[in-house]
Amino acid sequence: MSPIKLAIVGVGKIVHDQHLPAIAGNAAYTLLASASRNNAIDGLPSFKTIEEMLAAMPEIEAVSLCMPPQYRYAAAHTALSAGKHVFLEKPPGATLSEVADLEALAAAKGVTLFTSWHSRYAPAVQPAKAYLAQHAPTSMHVIWKEDVRHWHPNQDWIWQAGGLGVFDPGINALSIVTEILPSLIFLTGATLEFPENRDAPIAADLHFRNAQAVPVHAEFDWRQTGKQSWDIIVTTADGEVKLSEGGARLSIAGVEQALAKEAEYPSLYQRFAELVAAGRSDVDVAPLRHVADAFMLGKRKQVVAFHD
Ligand code: NAP
Repeated sequence: MSPIKLAIVGVGKIVHDQHLPAIAGNAAYTLLASASRNNAIDGLPSFKTIEEMLAAMPEIEAVSLCMPPQYRYAAAHTALSAGKHVFLEKPPGATLSEVADLEALAAAKGVTLFTSWHSRYAPAVQPAKAYLAQHAPTSMHVIWKEDVRHWHPNQDWIWQAGGLGVFDPGINALSIVTEILPSLIFLTGATLEFPENRDAPIAADLHFRNAQAVPVHAEFDWRQTGKQSWDIIVTTADGEVKLSEGGARLSIAGVEQALAKEAEYPSLYQRFAELVAAGRSDVDVAPLRHVADAFMLGKRKQVVAFHD
């Protein structure tokens, strides 16, 4: 099969950090162009908007949409309407309904829509899932605490409505949780802390359970300085399962497990190529649904203003 003719829309941090190396390392793709208001990819034709790009280069077959979530629907709608396959960065959109609309449009057009969740491809995730399928969880504790000033300096969109605030990293934890747990969970209570000058939360405390009343507690906080925490600890009758460093490490009953090398974005692009070849979509909104539930059910607490 000839390589998928791909373009990128919304060139920023994650495109340079992850998308470009992953695409360059995969023979299933030829990167043809980019569309971004202020940025470009060296050596490629660049356009200000996706509309200009698709008009000038109709040979483009697929696009990766890497702008902030609040602006992703319009670009996705344009691309799908033009019959292009679409890779959505996480989170797939600003609302659940807009993603449902895109899913229907992709089906009507007979093209692929992929809601990517990079953390699901962290090396610890599939081994943890396999273990938990055999050893029922009795509780889970998620601790996702990082320094927003270090990881998201001056990213205004992240603090605006729809930018998700601390759920921008927290949704990565939820993407792992929803992958490794053998049963569905649902939110039972939450507290969201909003800086008085921002429209998105800086911290969230979430309580979930499943039908068997197994508790899941998640703590997300962006005010963590010093050691950063991206840990998921699951208790089972046969010992503790701990995913740490965002799923880069796994210990089971105190024994560190040997894992494959980290390859989150290469795996995402491999999956997208397989979906395109198979003529299928993969639209999973479970992590975003939990975030929506937190905004719906959570108590809102105002905290001190946040300045970058
Ligand atoms: P970013 O660098 O702040 O934004 C990406 C690009 O989007 C910007 O360079 C900008 O390019 C474009 N953009 C910004 N505001 C826009 C607007 N109002 N309308 C249209 N385009 C706009 O963000 P990022 O860190 O790459 O994150 C982008 C997405 O990737 C987010 O959904 C994030 O959750 C996800 N992600 C990020 C990371 C990470 O480590 N940063 C990791 C995994 C996933 P132009 O100004 O040129 O248009």
